[in-house]
Amino acid sequence: MLYKTEFKIKAVFLMLILMTASFFSANAQEKAKPEDTEAWEPIPKVVTPGKTNSNAPSDALILFDGKNTDQWVSTDDRSLPAKWTVDDGILTVKKGTGNIETKSSFGNYQLHIEWRIPANITGSGQARGNSGLFLASTGKGDDGYELQILDSYNNKTYVNGQAGSIYKQFSPLVNANKKPGEWQSYDVIWTAPIFNADGTLKNNAHVTVLFNGVVIQNNTALLGPTRYIGKPVYTPHGPLPIKLQAHGDKSEPISYRNIWVREL
Ligand code: MG
Repeated sequence: MLYKTEFKIKAVFLMLILMTASFFSANAQEKAKPEDTEAWEPIPKVVTPGKTNSNAPSDALILFDGKNTDQWVSTDDRSLPAKWTVDDGILTVKKGTGNIETKSSFGNYQLHIEWRIPANITGSGQARGNSGLFLASTGKGDDGYELQILDSYNNKTYVNGQAGSIYKQFSPLVNANKKPGEWQSYDVIWTAPIFNADGTLKNNAHVTVLFNGVVIQNNTALLGPTRYIGKPVYTPHGPLPIKLQAHGDKSEPISYRNIWVREL
């Protein structure tokens, strides 16, 4: 009997504690104001958008504006200027002169680039309008992280090597190619990989890509720099140049325009 009474008292006491706690917690919620969760600074700086989404916003670095390749150098010898052709506001790959890359290096960025496969393109598979946007150039030749550029309008190849793929790692989510002869665009958000002090990988590189306005890579976590043969392996690096590929195939060279970048 005594045991039962003691138990009841304990139960009532516990209930009282719980009720008091919920009363105070409800009261705290009621007293919270909308202002409590408002942030007023730091105030984002003002950026004037371009006239269209092709045009650079006011804070962009223009990498190619139709006039010259002043922002570019030859990848295999960075002391030499880029040798590709500039004509009528358009930059065209000059096969045999090698890849070109930016003078400046970048960490995280937003990039816009437009490219055109020639209307008279010939060849098939990887030998049909092959170029590439290396999101970070880790060295000479094709060393780096390649977002593939290729005529994939009506051209069968391995899907993780078609236009919009992270070469031999990730296929594009969809095929948003336009016909050869038409200008196409990539809008890229690149997050560089992060390495620990001992050189091990802390965070993979990530990329989001819109191809002609259509999302084809959605925060894709890269496995490492892209490779023609073998598995990707990360090697530590800091900010790096952005590179364009002069591919060795025999098809007609592709062209570029409106290239700009915003560091993030
Ligand atoms: Mg390529």
